[in-house]
Amino acid sequence: MTTTDIISGKEISGRIKDEIAAQVTELNTRDIFPTLAVILVGDDPASHVYVGNKIKACERTGIRSIEKKLDADVSKDELLSVIAELNDDPAVHGVLLQLPLPEALQPYTNEMIDAISPDKDVDGLHPLNAGRLVAELDGMVPCTPQGSLILIKEKCADLSGKHAVVIGRSLLFGKPMAQLLLQQNCTVTMCHSRTQDLPAMCRQADILVAAVGRPKMVKKDWVKDGAIVIDVGINRQENGKLCGDVDFDDVQGTAGAMTPVPGGVGPMTITCLLQNTVKAAIKAA
Ligand code: NAP
Repeated sequence: MTTTDIISGKEISGRIKDEIAAQVTELNTRDIFPTLAVILVGDDPASHVYVGNKIKACERTGIRSIEKKLDADVSKDELLSVIAELNDDPAVHGVLLQLPLPEALQPYTNEMIDAISPDKDVDGLHPLNAGRLVAELDGMVPCTPQGSLILIKEKCADLSGKHAVVIGRSLLFGKPMAQLLLQQNCTVTMCHSRTQDLPAMCRQADILVAAVGRPKMVKKDWVKDGAIVIDVGINRQENGKLCGDVDFDDVQGTAGAMTPVPGGVGPMTITCLLQNTVKAAIKAA
């Protein structure tokens, strides 16, 4: 039986937040005040919690934050004008539009993301930033894959030649994660809902990353002995508790290292959002 190291995203993100706080203090001495604007449309309770956590993380690190709360029935043009106003404000370095938008605005989600200035797109979702990532040019990298890579590198600094299997091919996570792993010289296999014999694919992975949205889908017999397993999924169980896409109890004892849910990838996402905001502020200065 393998001893499984638990990779604590909570602990690692705490350490990085301390470094960000020190960096912000130094930037303030040069009259640079990193500032994040968060746009929240409507009253989805989960979105309110996520935005609250982002604002708290800003406060902890000395990053200034602006919250723009808009009613669920705000028009497309009104939302576009709020984005334009923040794009034009030199005191704002990062603009984050909390997703998902209310139902009536959902068809315009891509248009809204495209309207955010690529230099202020701290979520890294603008097509220009997606292109920069593929072209290996400097840009804003989506926060969750960026945070996941930090966790992987905590356990294995040199990823060259490793076989990474990513389950999920979303724009938000799977695709940028695969690009980041490719840049680290991994051999990358991307899996999705049409993949044949998914367990056999996963068993080949030195690094297995699951971002599917299916509770406890990845079992022990999907995991190679000693593999690093990163669980991105966040699923609410019937008992109200959160779980990931990996069956944590089952896989423990086979994986060499794995992330828990909660306390794994989740805290890293917010930390990388803070990092992107500081990066945008430095670039603007
Ligand atoms: P998504 O857009 O719904 O994508 C899910 C992906 O999983 C798709 O590519 C889909 O394949 C694939 N898939 C679905 N069922 C599958 C199956 N049975 N076998 C293999 N692949 C399957 O989701 P997402 O935005 O990437 O998020 C994925 C999960 O990560 C969710 O639980 C989400 O809550 C979580 N998440 C967490 C964080 C964080 O901060 N920790 C951030 C973002 C997302 P197709 O493309 O073929 O449909």
